[in-house]
Amino acid sequence: MTNATPMPGLNRRQLVTGALAFAAHGLSYAHAAAPLAGTQAPAYYRARIGSFEVTAVHDGAWLRAIDEKFVRNTPYADVQAALAESFQAPGVLTIPFTPLVVNTGRNLVLIDTGTGGQFVSFAPQSGTWQGNLAAAGIRPTDVDAILISHCHPDHINGIKTKDNALTFPNAEIFVSLQDWNYWLDEANPTTASDAARPQFLNARRIFRDIASKVTRFEPGRELVPGITALAAFGHTPGHVAFAVASGDRSLLVLSDTTNNPYLFARHPEWQPTIDVDGPRAVETRKRLLDRATADRMLVHGYHFPFPALGHIARRGGGYEFVPSMWQARL
Ligand SMILES: [Zn+2]
Repeated sequence: MTNATPMPGLNRRQLVTGALAFAAHGLSYAHAAAPLAGTQAPAYYRARIGSFEVTAVHDGAWLRAIDEKFVRNTPYADVQAALAESFQAPGVLTIPFTPLVVNTGRNLVLIDTGTGGQFVSFAPQSGTWQGNLAAAGIRPTDVDAILISHCHPDHINGIKTKDNALTFPNAEIFVSLQDWNYWLDEANPTTASDAARPQFLNARRIFRDIASKVTRFEPGRELVPGITALAAFGHTPGHVAFAVASGDRSLLVLSDTTNNPYLFARHPEWQPTIDVDGPRAVETRKRLLDRATADRMLVHGYHFPFPALGHIARRGGGYEFVPSMWQARL
């Protein structure tokens, strides 16, 4: 040990002053100004699950303004504190969207389909999925199965364009029987709240004229070889998670069991208004997060930070999402 003097921290003024002194000695940082790119990089990320290749394809995010009504059973001050603790803006919840593509070698499968670019008017950061799919080299005509976790618009709208054309013309679509019966029930929109009614009408717009392409399934079934739907009811009446398994490897796709993890993994008992059945959603959330923790499973969360893959650890009375380290090679 020759020098025990602690390294002094630099404040912003000292950094700027240092930079000016550097420039004054004739040493400039750059000789040619490069134009700013002004656009984001393509956002897709691959992982191997046994012999399967999984691609997380980003659809951007909704920076959703929330208020004291958003979490039904918690003081708003606690919600604001959780936002601050995770460096999110006050009163704004970031809700990223990341559908998955699973190439099993036999099937090219989508798990959920993003917003279809149909959220852009109120969520200008969203709607990047189609471009990212193209950047990932995934051709819509090659997709042969679409597995829907539930019928909220941010999961089903990518099935169709704004003009009602099918985006993936060769795909068989799978929706749980329970979600289909809830969202396609002709009576439900008339009794729904003002906030929920557009979601019913949207589900009808997407599915009514393509019902013959939709397979309604009971959770617990293997939908394509290697991918099984798991009952995860509560967020919606027929909400499902998925187990993707190949060889001795597996991935637990949590779907919307847990929204933004800095709020709802850390505080699994919180009941956001987006959960149709709050208490049941809490029960499901704890059950799946417990399983992920006990089995140290790789998980995917549709609304987790991109690329939405990682693990779940215990943290205080709740859980922590631990993102996967970037893998440069498969
Ligand atoms: Zn969602």
